[in-house]
Amino acid sequence: MLIFGAIIFIVAAFVVVALPLVDKTAADSDEPVAVDLTLAGLQEEKESAYNALKEAEFDYETGKLSDEDYEIIKKKYSAKAVETLEKLEKYQGASGVESREPSDEGKEITSGKVKFCPGCGNKLETGAKFCPGCGQKL
Ligand SMILES: [Zn+2]
Repeated sequence: MLIFGAIIFIVAAFVVVALPLVDKTAADSDEPVAVDLTLAGLQEEKESAYNALKEAEFDYETGKLSDEDYEIIKKKYSAKAVETLEKLEKYQGASGVESREPSDEGKEITSGKVKFCPGCGNKLETGAKFCPGCGQKL
């Protein structure tokens, strides 16, 4: 019974010690990636919609698609492209608002394509993961 108690204690201790570590690692790697994914994902979506449109146009011209099919595909992907463009604009617009309000602490300040460090205000390279001025993780 003593050994059983000891095992419970060790497991409990492990969970208490390990869980915050796991949480922290997950949060650290998730946050910047999530931001990148939103923008990169939207751009990818836009691109794939444009590519599909181009492809459909090509197939139509080479006779692989009927008028009807081409119209359906064109409508579908045009709507998708417009929708994604609107999302992109909204996303970039939201970032623009942040840059006019530097008091929004802890957030990455974005003004168009130029980024500035939220910690020291240093201008950042596009896609930089750390600030070259103060070393803050971005
Ligand atoms: Zn900095």
